[in-house]
Amino acid sequence: MTNEVLLRVENVTRIFGRGDRKFTAVEGINLEIRTGEFVALLGPSGCGKSTLLRMITGLIAPTSGVVYYRGRPVRSVNPYATMVFQTFALFPWLTVRDNVSLALEARGVPTAERQPQAEKLIDLVGMDGFESAYPRELSGGMRQKVGFARALAVEPELLCLDEPFSALDVLSAEALRGELMELWNSGVLPTRAILMVSHNIDEALFMADRIVVMGKEPGHIAAVFPIDLPHPRNRKAPAFEAFIDRIYGAIAGRTEPEAKEIGTAPGVAGITRILPPSSVEALAGMLEHLNANRSPYDIYKLDTELGLDMADLVRTIEMSEMLGFAKVGSGDIEITPLGQAFAEASILARKEIFAGRAKRLPMVDWTMQMLRAAPDYRLPWRVFYTALLPEFPDDVATRQLDTVIDWGRYAELLDYDDRNETLRLGEAVTPPGV
Ligand code: ADP
Ligand code: MG
Repeated sequence: MTNEVLLRVENVTRIFGRGDRKFTAVEGINLEIRTGEFVALLGPSGCGKSTLLRMITGLIAPTSGVVYYRGRPVRSVNPYATMVFQTFALFPWLTVRDNVSLALEARGVPTAERQPQAEKLIDLVGMDGFESAYPRELSGGMRQKVGFARALAVEPELLCLDEPFSALDVLSAEALRGELMELWNSGVLPTRAILMVSHNIDEALFMADRIVVMGKEPGHIAAVFPIDLPHPRNRKAPAFEAFIDRIYGAIAGRTEPEAKEIGTAPGVAGITRILPPSSVEALAGMLEHLNANRSPYDIYKLDTELGLDMADLVRTIEMSEMLGFAKVGSGDIEITPLGQAFAEASILARKEIFAGRAKRLPMVDWTMQMLRAAPDYRLPWRVFYTALLPEFPDDVATRQLDTVIDWGRYAELLDYDDRNETLRLGEAVTPPGV
């Protein structure tokens, strides 16, 4: 295969919001993709992977820097790059065949050729026999395959995939990964290069020729790993496991000085650090495990041992770090004395230790201050949500509040009333006489 440069991302930065509500999603990104390459962008949630992909496909523009496609600056939707989203939206009132034909029509394929071409693509993704089915008759995995067929109908030179397997169950995801790799490696795809966003190390390492690890706050490229393992890859091979270890080290990074780690409150200058949406149960499980195996512990072993997937594990690690229960080095994690105290404490004492730490997180502190200042120490959920919107997209704002409520309830710092969607200051921390 020749290797012409298809994509060149040059010093790209993207800022959202304005004034003192500015938020830098990614900064100073440089990246090149050549024909024949399968590149994976890997990083924790919120590091700007989707933002970068949206700039590459021309859905949004960089604040500074330039995205070049075949040497030309991308100024609007990039016709050579097509995106497959996490959940591919199919038209429910159209059959599988018509869903794919529609993409052919948009590309200007003559009517007579659409049906046979659509059927070829449906065949290609292993969905023959389902041409006349409607999306509702299909499983999630099957719908995603039709999504792929539709993306391929566009014949994109650069196929951009944004966590295409993350909404599927484990088995369908694995089957679909295998099928995509087979199609890609056998050269039957019209596509010349693939760029896939993932937060799953194992998935990226199974598929990509190069893994670009991103870090956050602001989003940046932290490391690049060329992966020269032959396909199909064997997850049990020592070389595979060695890569996992190295990549984990690059992702988990190192424990930052505390001030930077916990960020600032919403509405205050500086970065509002996103609370990782992980549960207290997952945290407790991990700390108990680490407490039984003191001293630096290989992070890559933890997901299997704890039965968590990579994304959940990364969140739980982040949670433990933010609260000061563990420290992360390159590729390993070590429980702190405070983490040990938590792991060994009774249920009640655990709550106290947790509350003491959670209160110090600006996001939690901000929520409590708002409640303290409110009549009756109550405020509708929507007030918090609205206050977060200038800084976060709506789904992130919702998730942030879910996490604050979840942690706050556990720590008895606050409570949430489902019936009227209202937050309330916890009994124990409410000033007396109310
Ligand atoms: P990832 O895909 O790596 O999870 P995203 O690219 O979706 O990350 O988001 C990166 C950061 O940019 C997040 O902190 C997110 O809150 C923020 N962000 C993304 N889109 C917007 C937007 N439209 N407005 C404001 N902030 C945004
Ligand atoms: Mg994303």
